[in-house]
Amino acid sequence: MNDGIRENIEIVRRNIRNACQKSGRDEETVQLIAVSKTKPMEDLQKAYECGCRDFGENKVQELVEKYEKLPKDIRWHMIGHLQRNKVKYIVDKVFLIHSVDSIRLAEEISKEALKKHVTVSVLVEVNVANEESKFGTTDQDALHLVEEIAKLPGICVKGLMTIAPYVENAEENRLYFAKLKQIYVDIIHKNIDNVFMEELSMGMTGDYEIAILEGATYVRVGTGIFGERQYNTV
Ligand SMILES: *Cc1c(COP(=O)(O)O)cnc(C)c1O
Repeated sequence: MNDGIRENIEIVRRNIRNACQKSGRDEETVQLIAVSKTKPMEDLQKAYECGCRDFGENKVQELVEKYEKLPKDIRWHMIGHLQRNKVKYIVDKVFLIHSVDSIRLAEEISKEALKKHVTVSVLVEVNVANEESKFGTTDQDALHLVEEIAKLPGICVKGLMTIAPYVENAEENRLYFAKLKQIYVDIIHKNIDNVFMEELSMGMTGDYEIAILEGATYVRVGTGIFGERQYNTV
């Protein structure tokens, strides 16, 4: 089943390289996150052998299980909605939490980070397309949330993340990526203490090339590497 993973990774890397060339960016400025949610350990192992070190998961329990079984040089990215009561399980295991969308969640991360003597890097999730089904702060509230998180100990804002709408034609999402970039630039200009705006997490299998053209530093690719996900099967 996972024979195609190596080939898929090569294709994705080539596409990333091309998008970087097209936009005059250095390849090293874009980091590929292999989104491995629902996928078995062998698939992650395969991707690891192909050089992937950044993996994205959206469920706490699954992330912790995989964390425990796989090599310790993997950087784990929490990309899914995070419940406050589960923060304690991951603060010392994740490299970056992409999905902070409320001050209450940030406070919980701060509290647990202090207990474990770590500093947790986070991104603020912005619902740039204002989709009702999606989590994330509004673009108007993003700056305020960044400012509030910056006051908390044990947590550090590194950038912004968005999940663009599902579209047939990736070009349709270009304006949302551009909008996230604009919010990011506006926040940089505010020069807020303890805020290091460096990362823009945007773009998935269907639209990562467009996201790179608009400035993505992290692209989160699942299906394009591991194939379709199957939910509701044993
Ligand atoms: C599942 C998921 C992805 C990957 O989606 P694909 O379309 O399979 O590449 C990226 N980001 C988030 C937040 C996800 O939940």
